[in-house]
Amino acid sequence: MHVLVKCPSCRAALPVDASNPVDAIRCGRCGRDIPLVIGDNLRDDITVDVCAVCQGRDFYRRKDFDPKLGLLVIALGVALSAVAYWFGRDLVAYGVLGAAVLLDLIVYGRLPDVTVCYRCHTEFRGAYRRTAPAFDLHTADVLEQEYERRIGKR
Ligand SMILES: [Zn+2]
Ligand SMILES: [Zn+2]
Repeated sequence: MHVLVKCPSCRAALPVDASNPVDAIRCGRCGRDIPLVIGDNLRDDITVDVCAVCQGRDFYRRKDFDPKLGLLVIALGVALSAVAYWFGRDLVAYGVLGAAVLLDLIVYGRLPDVTVCYRCHTEFRGAYRRTAPAFDLHTADVLEQEYERRIGKR
């Protein structure tokens, strides 16, 4: 399983290979030591049960999606359809725009799920069984605040 740790100090993303457990990693940006507890389920890519960074047990599932990429596809579609529109090809313009939206949907549907820790935003990627529910804003609010108080950010 691949774990993407978010540094509590500077939010840098730090990749960790859970099949090769370590006790701690040092943030390459700010130098903070981040202790890790990688359980057997994480190491063997079975399920995400306890967070390696904050030991929390609350996770949500989201599509492993780079919003910038989606925006790029849409922006490209808008640009192309604007050109077509300029040349009086209205139908082509709408067609291009529709295709861009459709492409976005298709790409989105095929994306794998990633499990994310509510508290520290650590991300877990692998072939493990997905058990986490969808994102819930209220839970996120409560748990993020709890975590930030614990690490002394509030
Ligand atoms: Zn850092
Ligand atoms: Zn966590």
